[in-house]
Amino acid sequence: MMTHVVGVELGGTKTVVAIANRDGILLEEIRFPTVSPRETVNQVCSWIKSKITAGDAIEMGIASFGPIRVDAHADDYGRFLATPKPGWSGFSLIDEIEKYFPKSRIELETDVNAALLGEMRHGVAMGMRDAAYLTIGTGIGAGICSNGSLVHGTLHPEMGHIRVSRHPDDTFAGTCPFHGDCWEGLASGLAMEKRWGKPAHTLPNDHAGWDWQAWYLAQGILSVVAIMSPEIVILGGGVSQFPELRDKTAHHLDVLSAGYFTFTGDDLQLAGLGQRAGIIGAMELLNQTR
Ligand code: ZN
Repeated sequence: MMTHVVGVELGGTKTVVAIANRDGILLEEIRFPTVSPRETVNQVCSWIKSKITAGDAIEMGIASFGPIRVDAHADDYGRFLATPKPGWSGFSLIDEIEKYFPKSRIELETDVNAALLGEMRHGVAMGMRDAAYLTIGTGIGAGICSNGSLVHGTLHPEMGHIRVSRHPDDTFAGTCPFHGDCWEGLASGLAMEKRWGKPAHTLPNDHAGWDWQAWYLAQGILSVVAIMSPEIVILGGGVSQFPELRDKTAHHLDVLSAGYFTFTGDDLQLAGLGQRAGIIGAMELLNQTR
C-alpha cells in the first residue's frame, strides 16, 4: 500500500489539485472551475481516485477560500460560514470529502495562510517567524504568521475589511457589500474596475489609478505592520502582478511611515512562488503539527 500526498487549492473561481508521492515529488496537477460544492468535491475526489490504486492511502492538505471554520476542535470544523458564493454557505467541506476518503488525514487552512506557509517553507519568507501574506485580487485577504504560528483567532483574520483613509480626490463609494469603503471596498481588483470603468490590468502604466492603488495598499499594510510587526509583507494575487505596483507601494509606505517603524518599503516583497504559493502551501500543511 502506498500513501500519496494531495494538495487542494479551493478558490472562489478555480480549484487546483496536485498529487505527489511520499517524498514530495509532484506527480500530476489539474485545475478546473469551482462550481457547486458537491460537484466540485466530486471532481476533486474522482480525479484523485483515478490517479491512485485501490487500497492506496492519501493525506490531503486543503487551502480554501472563506469564510470557513479552520479550528479542528470546533463542532463545525470544515464548514463554510455565510459566503456570497451561491450554494456554499453552510456546506461542510470536510464531511463531504470524508465520504470519498474516510479515515484519511486532512489538514485545512485558509488559502492565504497556506500561501504564506508555502512562502515560509520555499519562498521569500524562508526562515522567518513573523510574516504576512497579502493577496489582492477580486478581494483583499491576508494570512498571518506570528512567532512561528499561523494565526486563526476565533475564525480567521479578515484584514480586507480594515478601515483606511480616503484619497482626498476619491469620490468612489466602494464595493464592499457590508462596509462600502473599507480597504477591500476601495482597493480590490473589483474596486479598481468599478472606479475606473475597466479591468485593472487594462489601465495604462501612467494611469493615476495605480498611484491611488499603491497609496491605498500602503495604508492597509501600515496597519498590518503596526499590529503585528512582521519581518516581511508578501504581495500576491492578480493585481500585485502589475509591474510597478510593489515599488510604488513601497514608496508610499516609507512616506506614510515617516521613519517611525523599523519595517520599510524594502520589506514589502512580491511572492517568490508567484501564483503557485497556494498549492505548494496546501501540500506543506501536511508537514506541520497543529
Ligand atoms: Zn468590508
